[in-house]
Amino acid sequence: MPYLPAELPRLPPGRDDLAWWEALRRHELVVQRCAACGAWRHPPAPLCARCHATACRWERVGGHGCVFSYTWVHHPSHPALAGRVPYNVALVELPEAGGVRLVSNVIEVSPGELHVGLAVEVVFEDLEDVTLPRFRPASPEPLSARRARDSAG
Ligand code: ZN
Repeated sequence: MPYLPAELPRLPPGRDDLAWWEALRRHELVVQRCAACGAWRHPPAPLCARCHATACRWERVGGHGCVFSYTWVHHPSHPALAGRVPYNVALVELPEAGGVRLVSNVIEVSPGELHVGLAVEVVFEDLEDVTLPRFRPASPEPLSARRARDSAG
């Protein structure tokens, strides 16, 4: 079951973020980077905020980050969310991508476990038409070992 209902409205991919969505579908987390000055940027944008160049590239990152901020939502803002409260919305910082921050959710945590600074790792939630990046507390066990164990079980 997805963390949040699949029927929540979503914006269709646009020119600036199509590569982001396509990478997620392949279970890859990518971050846009200025081809001129190397600045990382997220959300994807048509030009660099630092040097105004329009050329960019996409770099795959490992998806390890930490919780910069979060909140627990207790009042559903959409009828589909009525049965899902409380759920969290987290701002996850990716040190490996220049400290860009992604708005996401941290799964597999209780309200008492989620805190600023919590080390997290990306997981890919496949819905029918889109893949969403969520995060879970990082395991001291290497992710590759955990995946091998999970697929064997
Ligand atoms: Zn730039």
